[in-house]
Amino acid sequence: MTVKSFHPPQRVLMGPGPSDVSPRVLEAMSRPTIGHLDPVFVSMMDEMKVLLKYAFQTENELTMPVSAPGSAGMETCFVNLVEPGDKVIVCQNGVFGGRMKENVERTGGIAVMVQDDWGRAVDPQKLKDALKANSDAKVVAFVHAETSTGAQSDAKTLVEIAHQHDCLAIVDAVTSLGGTPLKVDEWNIDAIYSGTQKCLSCTPGLSPVSFSKNTQEKIKNRKTKVQSWFMDLNLVMGYWGGATKRAYHHTAPINALYGLHEALVILQEEGLQNSWARHQKNHLALRAGLEAMGLNFVVPEAERLPQLNAISVPDGVDEAAVRAILLSDYQLEIGAGLGAMAGKVWRIGLMGHASNPRNVLLCLSALDDVLGRVKAPIKRGVAVDAANKKLAG
Ligand SMILES: *Cc1c(COP(=O)(O)O)cnc(C)c1O
Repeated sequence: MTVKSFHPPQRVLMGPGPSDVSPRVLEAMSRPTIGHLDPVFVSMMDEMKVLLKYAFQTENELTMPVSAPGSAGMETCFVNLVEPGDKVIVCQNGVFGGRMKENVERTGGIAVMVQDDWGRAVDPQKLKDALKANSDAKVVAFVHAETSTGAQSDAKTLVEIAHQHDCLAIVDAVTSLGGTPLKVDEWNIDAIYSGTQKCLSCTPGLSPVSFSKNTQEKIKNRKTKVQSWFMDLNLVMGYWGGATKRAYHHTAPINALYGLHEALVILQEEGLQNSWARHQKNHLALRAGLEAMGLNFVVPEAERLPQLNAISVPDGVDEAAVRAILLSDYQLEIGAGLGAMAGKVWRIGLMGHASNPRNVLLCLSALDDVLGRVKAPIKRGVAVDAANKKLAG
């Protein structure tokens, strides 16, 4: 058989990521590939750092995109900050906290788990208690925006508690960056990683990270070598570092970086505050429609993420069948439940470029139709009106 060029369909991506990529980003990625040490490329990298510092709200010099997806940003934080024998408190309230535990253990660290219910924020009191019981802990790690459940934790407070016990804080901001308030310097975050495919609406495959000066010093003064050659920041800095001449470490994903550059320019044009406000407004409109239909949110109101809406699947409904019809008849992708929530919830993303009134209304009308077809116990014909009222307000 002759394999022909691959032409994916045009979908609307309202799941947990990737989100819809802006056409401007896709166009930027199709520009000519140049050398990764070309002076023109190097000045683009310098601009990228400025743009990323803005997105993270930080002056950290060590701010750059890791050349791999969010999971690699996670791993970069753990392999650089954890040495064999180090105790790390990991707050888990969903799937991604479990991956942090894996990372700690694979670097030879000792993970002390602080468990919270899935669908709830991390409880600061539980972290305090764990730190009292483990005075030798060196690092605290938690997920700011748990994409598996739609819960948002109070990063500022959790970092403060970590510092009261002389621990560094590693924060997962893969889903929060660009979508919900995040202030790296004001909240004194020591190490943070994110992703390009959630609220930045860029293609998957890059992971913006940022490390404070103090953290950078710690990495320089490690007793042991970082176990990963590729992720050793002492080496990566030879390429991404500011002052010195750039040295070859690995070939940067040139065109992917054009895309991220454009995504960050779009964010800068809109303004961070406006982007956060847009995510909130569209979330409230979607919520009004879903609740009018009689669907229930998993996460209590005060702990909800605007960019990831987890709702319970009504009794007796085959959740996978509903998603399959949405995809085939509406070209609309929403997310399934992950881990302990598999089969029980849908996750509707309103991330980045995809967080817009048109998608809110499309999703609600599509759900109204498809849930009606599968005879789910919902109130029909009311969701769009409820959402429109919010959008107008
Ligand atoms: C998506 C996600 C990741 C992993 O990012 P990838 O780009 O899929 O590797 C990590 N943490 C959270 C909270 C996420 O939502």
